[in-house]
Amino acid sequence: MGRAYTYRCDKCGYEDHFNEGHGFLIHPMSLDSYLESGTILFHHKTNSVIEKLAKEHKNLFIDAGFKIFKCPDCNLLYDKIEVTVYDDGKILHKSEFRCTQCRARLKLTNIHRLKKAVCPKCKQYSFRLDQRKQVLWD
Ligand SMILES: [Zn+2]
Ligand SMILES: [Zn+2]
Repeated sequence: MGRAYTYRCDKCGYEDHFNEGHGFLIHPMSLDSYLESGTILFHHKTNSVIEKLAKEHKNLFIDAGFKIFKCPDCNLLYDKIEVTVYDDGKILHKSEFRCTQCRARLKLTNIHRLKKAVCPKCKQYSFRLDQRKQVLWD
């Protein structure tokens, strides 16, 4: 289950939604069942990493879910499907994302503590979490 957060810009009125959590088909599973399912859920680069790891290791476990990231330089928000591959509790692979504006590596953000971010439209520091518009999804 996940949550969708709404952010709204005080200056220009731009609104956007960010997802966090596990959803339909995006949930923890064993790597074998993922590969057997034949569906490609992730970015093709992530998929080739997963296939390569599956050949080298046995009984891998894969966790995937929406997480909210923030660019440390331009303070823009992103929601991304973060994929982590575990081998007996050890992390073998974890997705990394870059800001489309400045190419800085995105940092995971705690949306509950983040009250303000930069509006992707007008670039003002006035993008605020709208507490009334939280939506649950599954
Ligand atoms: Zn704005
Ligand atoms: Zn950036």
